[in-house]
Amino acid sequence: MDFPQLKAVLEQIADEVGALPGRGRSADYIPALAGVDPNRFGMAFAGVDGRVHGVGEWRVPFSVQSITKVFTLALVLATDGAGLWESVGREPSGNPFNSLVQLEYENGIPRNPFINAGALVVTDRLQSLTGDAGEELLAFLRAESGNPDIGFDLEVASSETAHGDRNAALAHFMASYGNIRQPVPTLLTHYFRQCSIEMSCADLALATGFLARHGVRADGARLLTRSEAKQINAVMMTCGTYDAAGEFAYRVGLPGKSGVGGGIVAVVPGRGTLCVWSPGLDERGNSVAGVAALDRFTTLTGLSVF
Ligand code: GLU
Repeated sequence: MDFPQLKAVLEQIADEVGALPGRGRSADYIPALAGVDPNRFGMAFAGVDGRVHGVGEWRVPFSVQSITKVFTLALVLATDGAGLWESVGREPSGNPFNSLVQLEYENGIPRNPFINAGALVVTDRLQSLTGDAGEELLAFLRAESGNPDIGFDLEVASSETAHGDRNAALAHFMASYGNIRQPVPTLLTHYFRQCSIEMSCADLALATGFLARHGVRADGARLLTRSEAKQINAVMMTCGTYDAAGEFAYRVGLPGKSGVGGGIVAVVPGRGTLCVWSPGLDERGNSVAGVAALDRFTTLTGLSVF
């Protein structure tokens, strides 16, 4: 697909999605997210060559939230290889992202790295491996996207802390099984700062490029083995869109990861990466317009993994 075709496809999608009747509600658990207009929309595609094209508000920064879980997972696997999988599973949970119920009968081992419990373990390991999980993550995101301004939104981070009882419960519960290595309050500070990172669709599409390049970073250096990149894409496909990953695979047919800020990234292995942002969410926490846009993208272009 050349640039004029891609541009036409993205413009067609923006028109169609703009006409969608119900576009969901913005996340309302913290004021900084509740105040965002649910109808905003941006979409970007970054080719494996690093060229990025977009439509709508594709250069507007938004709260990345759970999409950061893809990057922390990649950084831990890059440093520690398969060791992580002794502490986190890789099966879909079929439960809400912040659920506690499976932890007790699975001995404090979370089902996968993309539910909150799993993401807390991954951030805990990144912190142990690097000494500063947040700075390590920011350095990676800035380098891959070419945007030195990516940073934390400290207002969002402090709101997350103020509403963080459920994540604190998850972390303490796993700590009781010995599956968290640092003091829980320290871990939560790192986790909430991580969730508060702001990036645009262009930044996120570029930053996930290593997953389309089978583990190779923007500068040509290898971050992950080809197998590890495949593994992350597989876990995104099966667990990346909350408890609606089956529906996402059915409609879109690409590895994807969503966040409650309304962003979704999706990977077309060997070709490029997509990011779409629209804050109106469905009842599972996925962007209504975002899923619709990715659904149309794979239908119009044939670029799915199936
Ligand atoms: N900060 C959110 C939480 O951990 C992230 C939610 C999300 O994007 O799934 O509750």
